[in-house]
Amino acid sequence: MTRKDVPGEPFDFRFERDGSSYLAAGPSGRLVRLTAAEFAALASGSAREGSPLFGRLAAAGLLRGRLDLEDAVGGLAGLSSGASEGPGLHILVLTLRCNHACVYCRATASGGGGMMSRGTALRAVETAFQSPSRKLTLEFQGGEALLNWPALKAAVGRAKDLNRRAGKDLALSVVTNLSLMDEEKFAWLVGEGVSVCTSLDGPAALHDANRRWAGGSSHAKAVHWLKRFMAAAARDGRRDALPSALMTTTRLSLKDPRGIVEEYRALGLGGIFLRPLSPIGYAGGAWPEIGYGPEEFLSFYRTALKRVMEINLSGERFVERNAALLARKLLRREDPNYLDLRSPCGAAIGQLAYNWDGDVYTCDEGRMTAACGDPFFRLGSVRGNSYRELLTAPAARVCAMASCLENQPYCARCVFKPFCGVCPVHNYSVQGSPWGDIPSGGWCALQKGLFKEVFSLLERPRSRGVIEGWLEGRDA
Ligand code: SF4
Ligand code: SF4
Repeated sequence: MTRKDVPGEPFDFRFERDGSSYLAAGPSGRLVRLTAAEFAALASGSAREGSPLFGRLAAAGLLRGRLDLEDAVGGLAGLSSGASEGPGLHILVLTLRCNHACVYCRATASGGGGMMSRGTALRAVETAFQSPSRKLTLEFQGGEALLNWPALKAAVGRAKDLNRRAGKDLALSVVTNLSLMDEEKFAWLVGEGVSVCTSLDGPAALHDANRRWAGGSSHAKAVHWLKRFMAAAARDGRRDALPSALMTTTRLSLKDPRGIVEEYRALGLGGIFLRPLSPIGYAGGAWPEIGYGPEEFLSFYRTALKRVMEINLSGERFVERNAALLARKLLRREDPNYLDLRSPCGAAIGQLAYNWDGDVYTCDEGRMTAACGDPFFRLGSVRGNSYRELLTAPAARVCAMASCLENQPYCARCVFKPFCGVCPVHNYSVQGSPWGDIPSGGWCALQKGLFKEVFSLLERPRSRGVIEGWLEGRDA
């Protein structure tokens, strides 16, 4: 019998058991849920031509004789579109000093390291502008970035100068705890169109327990200035200038998923990004006190997401960004520009992190590893290396190889491979090698749980409608 005689013959599919059913996907990046009987028919090639099951399997690109090559290529191209654009995110760490002593970032409180000089800041901006990426985001970070205001102003000025000729889609953003904000800085940032991103871990008690500040309530300061920046953006009619807030989930946070969601909602932030803590850098050292396992995070996530759905189903738009970015992959087969879930990941080819001393790293997480004494992810320096040398440095190559899922035997067989990514810095921090051992590393269990959770929401018409609505907006 030839292949032509077996119309139901499957094509290169991967699967995962999920409860009593199975998830299956081929290279086209279309995920389907099958009952045990349907899965058996797929695996044995016995789906009857003309049956509804046959139609579903064919539409999902799972049947060899019915493969729509254009659709498969389109799906793959869409899901990995960012991988060939060049680094678009450039993180300038203006200082490692900070006036806070956050539980996940302890060492910064001791004031290790110096201030990025004006000259180094300018060199970093010039290096960033050598990227071929049409979109360029310069993100100023610390420690506390506002401690190095002169370097921030100089870098913004140089970026704008260079962009007059380059004409890139340029975004400028400062990541700050807002405790050092004042009227003068506020007016300058608003006037220059530099957006603000701050940390908000939840209600005041939780936030202030995580983000300790000898000067008073970190939460009160953050909320005060968030509101000011929101009002300024509304006054100017500039949605792109709206401030954003990011939460870090510690063990303490796990107790209050609904309270955290309500905090973001009450402030009118329009959504939340429920992210797990990574055991990288300082957080890795503090893991016994603040860390948790994948199942604990997933339980927290489910409860928080349930509340997010209730809010949306009552008619109020409130985006959960982690679900939105996974849904963008699952539903639309698009790259949401989330560098940690790409194959290969965004290390060097999607982002570069410039330390205060001019050293350049694959990403901010690679830089954090160096701050704890291990420069494994260092690419070079803005003072001694060309852009080409940085992008072809051994650490860049290692990350690209280790995060390419075809090179990861466990991932290569995984049903979520078209949508997923792995993190060499996470692997290195937890398991001592950028390749790691994916099944036992924690990252995988987390991603699988998140994909399953979001996919199950997409299978229900009402929650799918909510999430499709999110994908229409700019904020997801
Ligand atoms: S190495 Fe990890 S943190 Fe760095 S870009 Fe890749 S996935 Fe992201
Ligand atoms: S990390 Fe886990 S979920 Fe992601 S592709 Fe690899 S095996 Fe699949």
